[in-house]
This record gives sequence, structure tokens and C-alpha cells, in this order.
Amino acid sequence: MFERFTESARRIIFWSRAVAELALDNAIRPEHLLAGVYLEHPEVFGAFGLNSADLPLSTRVDLDRLKSVAELQPTKELPLSEDSRRVLRLASDQAQQVKVKSVGGVQILSALCHAVPRLRDALRQAGLTESLLALLAAKYAVAETQELRRAAHAFANEIISGSRAGIAYDLHRLEAGRKLVLGGVEIPFAKGPVGHSDGDVLSHAICDALLGAAGLGDIGAHFPDTDPKWKGADSRIFLEHVRNLLEEMSLTISHVDAVVITEQPKLRPHIPAICERLAEVLKVELNQINVKAKTNEGVDAIGRGEAIACHAVATLEGPLPGLEDLDDFEDESVN
Ligand code: MG
Repeated sequence: MFERFTESARRIIFWSRAVAELALDNAIRPEHLLAGVYLEHPEVFGAFGLNSADLPLSTRVDLDRLKSVAELQPTKELPLSEDSRRVLRLASDQAQQVKVKSVGGVQILSALCHAVPRLRDALRQAGLTESLLALLAAKYAVAETQELRRAAHAFANEIISGSRAGIAYDLHRLEAGRKLVLGGVEIPFAKGPVGHSDGDVLSHAICDALLGAAGLGDIGAHFPDTDPKWKGADSRIFLEHVRNLLEEMSLTISHVDAVVITEQPKLRPHIPAICERLAEVLKVELNQINVKAKTNEGVDAIGRGEAIACHAVATLEGPLPGLEDLDDFEDESVN
């Protein structure tokens, strides 16, 4: 199993054996492997303000008080526990998956987090969030070998993934003689929204919620209403543009929910067509879109029929912020 292990990975196992022996344990457990990973590059952990006391090492050995790792000389052959064997097998498989020839400490660190939930939970409790852990792995890979950076990126991509939500609100004044378009569907009514584009309040709110979830600002920044290009524009263009931006960031839409507030007309009969159109433009399934309609019970400008408004919430899945920092590490190592 160890043929493809780098010198560094072999040293990690050597340190972990010595730590297990000092801890009077009868096998090398995942906690000892983590201690080995730490001892191989304590400076990387130090860069994140972590020392051995912060890590769930469960050993009675104060690693930071060792004058040098050379003090750690195992005297007996200790077996790897079943958990540790699983970790090292997974480390090897993970390297293979991302077509990295050698198995280094970064795969051992990644496998420890994947294969041993108690370690991952303990690391999280120690303040090592998924993003930090991924950054740690990336920096660790840089300290180790250049080839392992690719593996660290794959690990980071996977571990930093999660969901995020965006919220939005839009309102347009209603005027007689204008077209009323909601979610790209034209609805017969005597009034329509005043706006630079087609004034599709639902599409605008959904764009903003999606942009918000992706951390990309708001619709005004992407399609300024001072730009004549967007005069009378079909808001489908905005939705398509936002969808492409999300695709570029490897973000997928989990769900969109919206509530359109208008006194008139009755929107309920149009909602199926609106949802279908939105699902088609955003390239999602129909059950990922939900649109509701409300009146304002005759209260304020919306209640008097002078305006139409919409609230929307969107959730996305994909890489969370933090990968930009990984690229910094990559640059550092190239210089
Ligand atoms: Mg608007």
C-alpha cells in the first residue's frame, strides 16, 4: 500500500508510530496520524494560528514541547488500527482519483477528515471550518510538493462546497397603457410597470436573489439603468446572463421562491405558466421554482394599485467563497 507514499507521507507514519508509543497506545490510531501530519509541517498549522493544543490529538504527548521531532524515535513496531488503515487506503484512492502519482500528507489530512467523522467534528469544534481546512490542506500541499497542489485543489473544491441563500426585493410603479410582464409571461391588464427595461418585477427580484447568493452584487451593477442598451429590454436576457455567471462559478440553483404583491389582476391562473417559463430560462426543474401571489389588502401604494412589488429568495449549491485564497497560495508557490 505504501509504494506511492512520498518521503513526507512516510515520515508522517513514522512520527505517528512514535507518538502512539509515547501515548502508551497499542496501535497507531487516526489521532496519531493527525499528530504525524502536524509534526511534519507544524509551520503550516502555525500560519493559521493553530498549535498542537488546538488539535484533537488525544495523546498525552505535548508535541510543541518536543525540542525536535528527532526526539521521536519509535522503539517498537506498532500496528495501524483498522481506522488508520482505512484512512491510508482512502488517501491512496484519493490521489488516484485526481491522477496524482504520489500520496502525500495532504491526502492523509483529507482522508482523516473524510474517513473519521469524530476527527472532522473535533477539528470543526477547534474552529477549523471547512474553508479553513481546505486552505490548510492547500498550504500544506505547497509545503510538500508542487504536484500535490492539484490534489489539494480537488479536496478544497469538494470540502468548501455548501449552500448559500440570497434575498431580494423589487418594486415598480404601475401606469395605464403599459405591458404587464411577470417572469417573462405577458398578463392581460390595463396597467403595466414603469421601468427602464420591461419592468418585470419578478424576474428582477429573482436575478437579485441569485446574484446575492453568489456574492455578485445586484442587478443594477450588471445592467445599469443609465445604459441605453437595456431600454425596454426583455428581462429574460438578465436571467440568462445571471444563470451564465453562476455556471462560470460552478454554482447550481437549488431553489427559488418568490412572492409577487399586487392588488390586481388576479395572478393565480398565470402562476403555472410563469413557473414553467422561469424554469426553462434558468434551466432547472419545475419543482425548483415556486411563485406566490399576494394582495396588499388595499393598504398603501400597492393596495391602491399604484405599484407592484416582489420579494424573492434563492438558494445555490457549489463552492463557497475561499477558493480565491487558494489561488493566492498557488501563486506563492510558483514564485
Ligand atoms: Mg426592477
